[in-house]
Amino acid sequence: MSNTNQPLTSPSTSNNYSSSISPQQLAKFCDDYLQADDFKDYCPNGLQVDAGKPIQRIITGVTACEALIDAAIAAKADAIMVHHGYFWKGEPEPIVGMKGKRIRKLMQHGISLIAYHLPLDAHPTIGNNAVLAQSLGLTITGALYPHESHPVGNIATGKAQTAADLIKTITQVLAREPLHIASGYEPSGNNHSLINQSYIDTEQSDSSMIANDRFIAEDSAQTDPRLIERIAICTGGAQDMIEQAALMNCDAYISGEISERTTHSARELGIDYFACGHHATERGGIKALGELVSKQFKIEVKFVDIVNPA
Ligand SMILES: [Zn+2]
Repeated sequence: MSNTNQPLTSPSTSNNYSSSISPQQLAKFCDDYLQADDFKDYCPNGLQVDAGKPIQRIITGVTACEALIDAAIAAKADAIMVHHGYFWKGEPEPIVGMKGKRIRKLMQHGISLIAYHLPLDAHPTIGNNAVLAQSLGLTITGALYPHESHPVGNIATGKAQTAADLIKTITQVLAREPLHIASGYEPSGNNHSLINQSYIDTEQSDSSMIANDRFIAEDSAQTDPRLIERIAICTGGAQDMIEQAALMNCDAYISGEISERTTHSARELGIDYFACGHHATERGGIKALGELVSKQFKIEVKFVDIVNPA
């Protein structure tokens, strides 16, 4: 299939769904299952928009963007369940502009919105970290912040493998190549390859400079013989936990996003970093929660993957 703009959907397993539940019932079940009240979060967890209609069909997705709402309208769904909902700390409160349009659409079509952020990252079996670790063939052995009561982020172990092997596995599992930063910086050694000669020596366009950076990174992963065994995992925009991952003696850290500073942290802290995509690493949790809800209440739940390269 060449049309990459087509949202990917998972097939529903059966058409014999007859039950319906209230938005409150659905949220209560998920709140309890995820122990949502125990988390200090940047957004409200649970029922965010109550459209006041019984729920017979649910669409799940990573983010409650307009494309997901349109997919729910097309599917005649009564509820959307997501990892990234609305009402984030610090954002303007009025329901106007883009947020106003999204919420208006939900209400006009009788679609309730239920969202779980940190509780869905952290859950030990259906959480984003747990699902990602399992799909990469890794076993979770502990928490990235072991002293927190509800830690987000894990430490996992797997077979000893090279960075190139791990890149291959991640690419296969997430259908997306990670951006890899190798840890091999030697303070007094030969780090000549980190100096981008093409930028200094010639006037090249931006795109060829990026290509050159990429070539250096790929080249070092292919030839790096060091083995990775102990891996920290925290999905999404958790790149700044890299320092904690290094403190916990991990060989590598897998997260979603990367910042400019993350590159230097990885090199100087001596830990390999794999930026696997915020969206790509956070599909697993909400998909698993939807499957659980479908089983529990015998209602139709379909995961819709709105394409997002970030
Ligand atoms: Zn996220």
